[in-house]
Amino acid sequence: MNSDLERKVLDAVPTGLLIGGEWRQAASGATTKVEDPSTGEVLAEVADAAPEDGIAALTAAHEAQAAWAAVAPRERSDILRRAYEAMIARQDDLALLMTLEMGKPLAESRGEVAYAAEFFRWFSEEAVRIDGGFATAPAGGSRFLVMKQPVGPCVFITPWNFPLAMGTRKIGPALAAGCTVVIKPAPQTPLSMLALGEILQEAGVPAGVLNIINATDAQGVMEPVIRDGRARKLSFTGSTGVGKILLEQCAEKVLRTSLELGGNASFLVFDDADLDKAVEGAMLAKMRNMGEACTAANRFYVHRSVAEAFAAKLGERMGALKVGRGTEDGVQVGPLVDAKGLGKVVDLVGDAVAHGARVTVGGEKGSGPGYFYPPTVLVDVPQNSRLNHEEVFGPVAPISVFDTEDEALAAANATEFGLVNYVFTENLNRALRVAEKLESGMVGLNTGLVSNPAAPFGGIKESGLGREGGTVGIEEFLELKYVAIGGLS
Ligand code: ADP
Repeated sequence: MNSDLERKVLDAVPTGLLIGGEWRQAASGATTKVEDPSTGEVLAEVADAAPEDGIAALTAAHEAQAAWAAVAPRERSDILRRAYEAMIARQDDLALLMTLEMGKPLAESRGEVAYAAEFFRWFSEEAVRIDGGFATAPAGGSRFLVMKQPVGPCVFITPWNFPLAMGTRKIGPALAAGCTVVIKPAPQTPLSMLALGEILQEAGVPAGVLNIINATDAQGVMEPVIRDGRARKLSFTGSTGVGKILLEQCAEKVLRTSLELGGNASFLVFDDADLDKAVEGAMLAKMRNMGEACTAANRFYVHRSVAEAFAAKLGERMGALKVGRGTEDGVQVGPLVDAKGLGKVVDLVGDAVAHGARVTVGGEKGSGPGYFYPPTVLVDVPQNSRLNHEEVFGPVAPISVFDTEDEALAAANATEFGLVNYVFTENLNRALRVAEKLESGMVGLNTGLVSNPAAPFGGIKESGLGREGGTVGIEEFLELKYVAIGGLS
């Protein structure tokens, strides 16, 4: 199965747990296999943490906290900058590794490595700009001094869809702020995070500041770590269901929490939209990562007067995409990550068809090995289809028609999620009016891509708490301490 290059890249990855600056086996000796989703073959076997490993990682992070917080901001910044440069220097190898374990086409993996590295560059710049405040009390006399200090040891749990970027956007600000970390990557894609751990060590991250534990028993290993009380912050990216469980666990010791949860993005195309721009945006919003993104356009609502033309243009583009193993030349759509993900896509498309939707492109899963599903377009999708309410996390574009702006807004907001919505219109008044009324943390206005390390990423409603990236990103890892100064006149 593997070319020499693939074997070389796989063999170079550490396969242990990173605890206290050392790579070690799980206390139980257990390992778990990592699969290639395009063939089902085993790529590697990595250590599978037991609960005592989780606690050992937390102890290491806790013991390293005070010294790391005392490291000069410029030094923390330089470490992140070196890690950024190392990631860019190793972009091709990291991309190949990511494609092998996750499935996305190589070009997209390269893009993710650059995007992920950018969080380190951004937060290396933020590390030296942590400020505070000083003010005179309104009545005179006392003064207010406000200082910012690291929250403390952090626990991170990340998903498989962006194996590097979902890690770096938490690790970057945490290290910049002076916090230590225990991170658990997703069991489907631990290799990218393990490779990143080695890069961060080489960049100069001291022992214990970054600890990586891969664990298939996520709850069994992470719950004791969260409930322990020595970690002061949890940042999680994943499903809303798991996010709610973790929020409850955090309540016991009142951990600070940042949650990036599920989405159900609408993609609104008004009659005054530039249709070519809308189709371009739709391809990006729908097909980036094979649709396996919380920001993916999940539901398309198109004005009746342009619906047919939009569906035809989108269908043509979707139908022309090349599906295959992400390592092959020219492949634009890789496999879904696993059997569960593929099963959900099959179910949701089946449900929409049963409710009266029509498939115009794709719609039939192949029979070969790997978790492939073809780019699919559905029209006349009734509002009560599951596709309009649940994240499909696959290359499926369901299109429904609307007549008025109010109707489009009501449909877009008829969800418990609130991560992102996309709007295509050339009318400035409408653009701003609709953007204000959409219930989401982010809006893509005439663009299908909102993610940027320099912008505040995050959702409202059941899509999460807090923001990642931008100038506010580091604040999630800082506590304010207010010192009241008396005795002055
Ligand atoms: P998905 O269904 O896309 O895999 P999940 O929310 O289940 O999304 O997984 C995201 C991350 O959360 C993964 O790292 C997974 O191992 C972890 N996870 C899942 N369930 C739990 C849990 N009960 N406690 C802690 N981590 C969990």
